[in-house]
Parts: sequence; C-alpha cells; structure tokens
Amino acid sequence: MIHQMTRSFFLFLSSRTTLNTFAQKWGLKFGASHIVAGQTMNDALRVAESLHSQGLTCIFDHLGEFVHSKEEAREATNAAIATIERIATSPLDIHLSVKLTQLGLSIDEDFCLQNMTDIVAAAKKHQVFVCIDMENYTHYEQTLRILEKLRQQNEQVGTVLQAYLRHAMKDLKQLHDVPLRLVKGAYKESEKVAFQKKEIIDEHFYRMITTHLKEGVFTAIATHDHRIIEKVISFVQKNNIPTDTFEFQFLYGFRPNLQQQLVQQGYAVRIYVPFGKDWFGYFMRRLAERPQNISFAMRGLLQR
Ligand code: FAD
Repeated sequence: MIHQMTRSFFLFLSSRTTLNTFAQKWGLKFGASHIVAGQTMNDALRVAESLHSQGLTCIFDHLGEFVHSKEEAREATNAAIATIERIATSPLDIHLSVKLTQLGLSIDEDFCLQNMTDIVAAAKKHQVFVCIDMENYTHYEQTLRILEKLRQQNEQVGTVLQAYLRHAMKDLKQLHDVPLRLVKGAYKESEKVAFQKKEIIDEHFYRMITTHLKEGVFTAIATHDHRIIEKVISFVQKNNIPTDTFEFQFLYGFRPNLQQQLVQQGYAVRIYVPFGKDWFGYFMRRLAERPQNISFAMRGLLQR
C-alpha cells in the first residue's frame, strides 16, 4: 500500500514539466549522478570506457521528454544522429536507445516517423543498433506502427515489450522475428490494460523471455531482479540456448556486483547509460520503481 503510494507520487513528479525545467537549471542533483552518466556525450563516453574495461557494453540514451514543438523534436533528432556519428568513431560496442515522444510522437505520428527514418538511415550507415524504448500505453500502438515501417528500411532496429501489459504475449508472438528488449514495465497503467500484481507480472515476464529465447531471435533481458535472472540462466542451460542470442541489461548504477557476476559466468551484459540535461523524469521513475533507491537521493541531499 505504502509502496503503491510512493510509486504514484514519484510517477506524478516524473511527469511534471515545470520541475523538469527547474532541474535542467540545477544540473544533476539529489544523487542523480549515481544513475545518470552526466550532462554531455563526453561524460557518457567516459562512463562507457570505464564499463568496457569491466567487460560491459553500453546503450546510450540522450535523455529528453516533454517535447512540445517540432523544433524541439528536430533538435532531438539531430542530437540522436550526432550520437550515432560519435558512437561510430568509438571502438566500443554501443547501441542507441530513443524515445519517440522526444522525436515528436505526441505532435504528429508522420513527423515522428520522418525523424526516426533519418535516425535509422544514419544508424544503418554507421551500423549502430537502435532500440525504441517503450513509453506509456498512450503511445503503444503508434510505437509498434512506426517500428514496422522502420524495419522495412533497416533490420537493426528493435523495441521493448513490457510484461505488465495483458496483451504483451500476443504482441511478442507477432514480433517473433524482431530483436526485443523485455522488461516488466515502468509506467502507471490502468488495470484494464496492465496486470497490477507483482507475482503475475513476474510470471508473465519469465514466460515472455523463454518464448522469445526459443525463437532464436535476439533477446535482451532487462531486469535487476536476481530471481528472474537465475531462472533464465537455468532455462538457457537446460535448453542449450546459444549465449550469443541474448544478453542481460541493467541500468547504469544498479547492482554492479550482479553485473560482474554475470560477466564472470560468461554472459553478455549491456548497461543502459542515460545522459543529458533532462534527467529529472528518468530519476523520478527510478525512485518510483524501488523505494530503496531513495537512498541515492538521501545521500545526494546530505552531500549538499
Ligand atoms: P523489480 O520488480 O523492481 O525488482 C524485483 C526484485 O529484484 C526486488 O524485489 C529486489 O529483490 C531485487 N532488486 C531490484 N532492484 C534492486 C536493486 N537495485 N538492488 C538490490 N535488489 C534489487 N521500462 C519501460 O517501461 N520501458 C523501457 O523501455 C524500459 N527500458 C529499460 C531498460 C533497461 C536496461 C532496464 C534494466 C529497465 C528498463 N525499464 C523500462 C524499466 C523496467 O520496466 C522496470 O521498471 C525496472 O527494471 C524495475 O523492474 P525489475 O525487473 O528490475 O525488478
């Protein structure tokens, strides 16, 4: 009950445009630097180098939400293309994650598709894999429509499916040939579309992971839940799933010991590295997921 209230509170804060605008002026505060790489791409590259030296690969996410004008969306598109070009000059293995609302999805779907088409063309030229993050349910159908069109130009594009959605398994089967990141889901969704009970979501998540792994298509298992990770490892061992058809993914700053254990066991581990000025919404969603994450914020406050 208390967890539900805290979750709703932080998710509410995460969607406040005004707070995000203030946060841009403050710079990384409240301990956000534990989980956000910094404000610039150079900061992200420094983090990527350090992770690489620990056997980890990366996904860059240039943070940005609350885009209300075509100019802002075009700016975000250019920033994504610049990120791809920069990644291409680095010897490190780095993917790119994007959010369609940052690229104008709430303004006009065709305009967003055009922006994504430009990003995907740059990604194809430089052979950088692009993953479209999944946002709240309002944008779900549009995201899948855009994905389908983009995959006709470049197969190195995938997306995310959220196990809390009741119809996620049906969609997983339709996307059986698409490289997918599977997650439990980070937003607050209605009971009509999303399971609310943790045990049901966990079970659905595990079934989705094993279903996609059996297809032999690339599967990113994005979770900090050691119980799910242990079950997946038992499954892949028992079913001789080749280790180059999946990877574990973690958010930057979360469970570094578990990341290292997996690397030492020979599994591929990729770290999602967010950077940029728009850190506030991302930081609030992480606090919503796990009340214990508030310790980041408390430590951050005490340091000031
Ligand atoms: P939880 O259900 O939060 O935790 C389960 C259990 O794991 C806990 O009870 C605890 O025992 C243990 N645990 C979890 N975290 C910790 C910790 N920090 N320290 C110690 N023990 C811990 N969501 C989206 O909706 N769209 C996306 O595009 C998206 N992309 C993501 C990308 C990555 C790489 C990751 C890792 C997550 C992403 N998410 C995304 C968020 C995801 O949906 C979940 O909200 C988030 O990962 C929390 O769920 P969990 O699976 O980690 O486990």
